[in-house]
Amino acid sequence: MNQKISRRDFSKLLFAGAAGSALGLSALPGMGRAADRKRVVVVGGGFGGATAAKYLKKLDSSISVTLIEPKAVFYTCPFSNWVLGGLKTMEDIAQRYAVLKNRYKIDVVADTVVSIDALKSVVKLKSGKVFGYDRLIVSPGIDFSFEAINGYSRKAAEAQMPHAYEAGPQTVLLQKQLHAMKDGGKVIICPPDNPFRCPPGPYERASLIAHYLKEKKPKSKILILDAKDKFSKQGIFTKGWEKLYPGMIEWRGASTGGRVLKVDPAAMTVTTEFGDEKGDVVNVIPPQKAGKLAFDAGLVNSSGWCPVNPVSFESLIHPGVHVIGDACMAGAMPKSGFAASSQGKVTAAAIVRLFNGEVPAAPSLVNTCYSLIGPGYGVSVAAVYKLTAEGIVSIKGAGGLTPMDADDDQLSQEATFARGWYNNIAQDIWG
Ligand SMILES: Cc1cc2nc3c(=O)[nH]c(=O)nc-3n(C[C@H](O)[C@H](O)[C@H](O)COP(=O)(O)OP(=O)(O)OC[C@H]3O[C@@H](n4cnc5c(N)ncnc54)[C@H](O)[C@@H]3O)c2cc1C
Repeated sequence: MNQKISRRDFSKLLFAGAAGSALGLSALPGMGRAADRKRVVVVGGGFGGATAAKYLKKLDSSISVTLIEPKAVFYTCPFSNWVLGGLKTMEDIAQRYAVLKNRYKIDVVADTVVSIDALKSVVKLKSGKVFGYDRLIVSPGIDFSFEAINGYSRKAAEAQMPHAYEAGPQTVLLQKQLHAMKDGGKVIICPPDNPFRCPPGPYERASLIAHYLKEKKPKSKILILDAKDKFSKQGIFTKGWEKLYPGMIEWRGASTGGRVLKVDPAAMTVTTEFGDEKGDVVNVIPPQKAGKLAFDAGLVNSSGWCPVNPVSFESLIHPGVHVIGDACMAGAMPKSGFAASSQGKVTAAAIVRLFNGEVPAAPSLVNTCYSLIGPGYGVSVAAVYKLTAEGIVSIKGAGGLTPMDADDDQLSQEATFARGWYNNIAQDIWG
C-alpha cells in the first residue's frame, strides 16, 4: 500500500512543508482572500467527506461547498459492534447533516454521483443534475469483492449471511439473527485478508457478540475463520477473550483451517481447506476495494485503491480530484474513520492554500482507534505519521498500544476514553 515518491518530488514536498504544522491547519496565509467564489464539490458524507466539507468552511467561509450524499441518516460503523453487543442503539450511531447545512452553510444534496468528468470538472448525479467544481473531493468508502468467495453475493449478504461492514440495515439484520439464535448456537465470523476497513473491527465484533451471548445465551460459541495468520492487537484481544469469555471464542488463522473457500447461504455452511463448518449465524466479511464511484471514474490503479499525492490527497490519475478515506492509498495509515477525518482536514487545508496560489504544507497525520472487549475493558492504538521518500510512514515512538500488562483500572479507563472518542469525533464532523 506504500507509494514511493521520487527524490525530486520529495524535495518539492519538503520545501512545501517548511511552514507546515500539525495537520497543516494553522498558518494559512491568505485564508479567505480568494478573489472569486471557488466551488468545491465533496462526494460522500461519511468520515472523510463530511470532515473535509466542514473544515473547508471553517478555513474559508467564502468557498462554496456542496456535499453530495444519498443517505439522510449516516449510521457510523464505529460503535456498530457496540449495537451488536447490546451496549448502544442504532439511534446512538445515527448522524445527520442539519448542522453542516444550517450552521456551516454547506449545500447538502441528497443524491448519488454517477459520473465524474475530470477534464470538464463536472459531476453528474443520479437525478440528472450536473455540478461544476474547481476542486472535487471524493470519499466514497469501500465496495465489496463478493465474487472472491464462492457462493457469496450481495443477495446472500442481504438475506442469510450479512457482512455488517457498512452500518445500517446490515447491522440490524445481523443483530436480529443473533437475537433469534438459540442458546447453544454457533456464530461464525469470517474476516478478510488485508487491506480492509478497520483492522481490529472483526475482533471487537467477536468480543461484543461474546458479551451479548455470555449474558443471554451462555452455551453459545463463536468461531472466527480468518483469511490471515495474524490480526491487529492480537495479543491483547486474545488475553481479553481468555479473561472475559473463557472457552467461548475460537480463532483459526489462514494456515490452520481459517481460509474460507466457499459458502452455502441456504445450508448456512462455510467451507475451508479443512472441511465444512455449519453456523446458526454466519457473518462473512468479504475482501474490499475502493467504493464503486472510484472505479467508474477511473481513480483506482491495479490494486483496487486510489493512488494520491500524500501532501494534498490529489489523485495521481486525475488532477483536481482529491481522494480521501478508505478509498485512497495512504501508506501506513489504516482504513479508519479517524484516519479518514484526519485526511479530510489535511485536504481542506491543502485546497485553501491551492486556491490562494500557495503550495500545500507537508502534513502530520494521526490515527487513534479504540476497541471494546467488554463494557469496562477497552484497548487502543494510536499513531502519528510523517511524510518521507517512502510515502506516509508512522513515526517511531509516537503513539502506542495499550500495554499487555495493563491493569483493570487502565482497561476500564480505556473503555471510558472510547466513549469520549466517539462523542468527540462525531461532534467534530457532524456537530
Ligand atoms: C465494524 C466497524 C467498526 C469500526 N470502528 C471504527 C472505530 O472504532 N474507529 C475508527 O476510526 N474507524 C472505525 N471503522 C472504520 C470506519 O468506519 C471507516 O474507516 C470510515 O467510515 C471511512 O470513512 P470514508 O469517508 O472513507 O467512508 P464512509 O464513512 O463509509 O463514507 C462514505 C460515504 O460515501 C457515500 N457515497 C458512496 N458513493 C457515493 C456516490 N457515488 N455519491 C454520493 N455519495 C456516495 C456513502 O453513502 C457513504 O455515506 C469501523 C468500521 C467497521 C466496519
